[in-house]
Amino acid sequence: MSRQTVKNRGAGTAGFSLMLQPRVSQDLSRLRHGLRTPLNHILGYSEMLLEGAPAGSAAGEALRTIIAEAQRACDCLPAAGGNNDNSEAGMLSLRSDMRPHVTAMSDQLPALANLDNTDVDRMKSAVSQLMLFVRSGELAPAAAASVTPRVHPRGDQQPGSARVLIVDEDENNRDILRRQLSRHGYDVVEAASGRAALRALRGNAIDAVLLDLVMGDINGLEVLNALKTDEHLREIPVLVISAADELGAVAASIARGAEDYLFKPFDPVLLHARLSATLERKRLRDQERTRNAALERVTAALKRSNEDLQRFAYAASHDLQAPVRTVTAYLQLLERRLGPRLNEDEREMIAFAQGAARRMHTLIQDLLTYSRASTAPCHLETVDCEELVTALVDDLRSIIEEAGATVTWDPMPRLVADATGIRQVLQNLLTNAMKYRREEPPHVHLSLIRESDHWRFCVRDNGQGIEPEYTARIFEMFQRLHGDDIPGSGIGLAICQRIVDRRGGRIWVDSEPGRGSTFCFTLPFHPETGAAA
Ligand code: ADP
Repeated sequence: MSRQTVKNRGAGTAGFSLMLQPRVSQDLSRLRHGLRTPLNHILGYSEMLLEGAPAGSAAGEALRTIIAEAQRACDCLPAAGGNNDNSEAGMLSLRSDMRPHVTAMSDQLPALANLDNTDVDRMKSAVSQLMLFVRSGELAPAAAASVTPRVHPRGDQQPGSARVLIVDEDENNRDILRRQLSRHGYDVVEAASGRAALRALRGNAIDAVLLDLVMGDINGLEVLNALKTDEHLREIPVLVISAADELGAVAASIARGAEDYLFKPFDPVLLHARLSATLERKRLRDQERTRNAALERVTAALKRSNEDLQRFAYAASHDLQAPVRTVTAYLQLLERRLGPRLNEDEREMIAFAQGAARRMHTLIQDLLTYSRASTAPCHLETVDCEELVTALVDDLRSIIEEAGATVTWDPMPRLVADATGIRQVLQNLLTNAMKYRREEPPHVHLSLIRESDHWRFCVRDNGQGIEPEYTARIFEMFQRLHGDDIPGSGIGLAICQRIVDRRGGRIWVDSEPGRGSTFCFTLPFHPETGAAA
């Protein structure tokens, strides 16, 4: 039974420790997985050697042949999601399919003799592993003695270049990856096990991880889990490296937050492209996070300053009430005491002062209402708008009669809303409709309709109308289109705007100068049975 186990021995010992007479299907699929490691070595090292080989040299030609044959040998292994034939007959046919390609690779090795490179030794070792497999069905460990450890010089590393952590138990796989990445200017950190990977992640500022899924101590998925549940590490993108027949594990790793994947053996150009794209996405995400954080800070500062301003406006207008009341009271006293002794001019002067004090009082009241409009609670309830409008018109009876106005309205529905807010806005609009009238008696009409997700209130008048260039400005504080002959503070519509804004609606005016205006505002629709939102 022990000879049926294929086991990866981990860092420092390339290849597989045991061989086996594969008899059960699981062993066959693991063996197929094991075959990818030497093929990966052959492809990785020959591509790097080819770059250094003189153009047109015999060694260069031999390397090209080896690459082509290694790719053909890879094609003999089942592709992702492909049909794995795990029977013993399937194994025999795999060996015979791979044999010509492995033999062709082996035949080319003598042409590499002049290259005098440790990489050639590593490649030879990998070809020997495959040769043993096609001859005997065994997958033996690589001849470790032939591989002399060596320090590889880094490529042109740019300052601020991305730091990539390579996690792979196989030393040659790491070596190939490290050299491919260094050449593109990446700063590389290596980990030969899952635990070492987690240590490296916590001790270095890593920008991306290349993670092999098959490892002895804790596997790639566990590393991924640990990384994605750590709030300091979870944003680091992970590219999973796996064999094509580990599709299930790849899918699981994507579900757990891996950014991308590559099947072994992979093309260095593809690796670089995917890694760059991954790092670019991370850069954009980091940038967005930084922007959002800055935006949140600015919003909080704005909110604070707004609240300060509101407190100031409230306090100032509140404190101004008392002196204005005193001025009004003393003016009245003066008028009463001096009464008959006042001449026409003096009487007029006192009247002016009283008028100014009254305007000041209105202004202060409006400012207070404006400040309260953003803090007063919005209490949602079922409002019978027919009742609300009837009561409002009743309250405004003296103004309506004085203006000789007619006020009409469509049948009004019940709706869920904040009655106080609606009343305040309608009162302002109705009063304005009568204030800014023409010679002819004012006719004001109110309507209320439901439009998809909101209610629309409209107040139509036949008054003076507003020039198009002012239709937006009149909703700002202190913006008046009329002189003092029509009393007002220029705050009424700003109050309406604030009330409607706070309730998630919108207010605007359509107007025709000389013919009249229609002021409309919307409020969100809340189902009558539902609780207030
Ligand atoms: P106030 O009425 O106190 O001046 P408002 O904020 O209510 O302040 O209105 C701002 C300005 O918009 C008014 O001064 C007036 O010039 C104009 N306005 C408001 N309502 C009407 C209307 N129905 N018809 C014509 N002009 C209007």
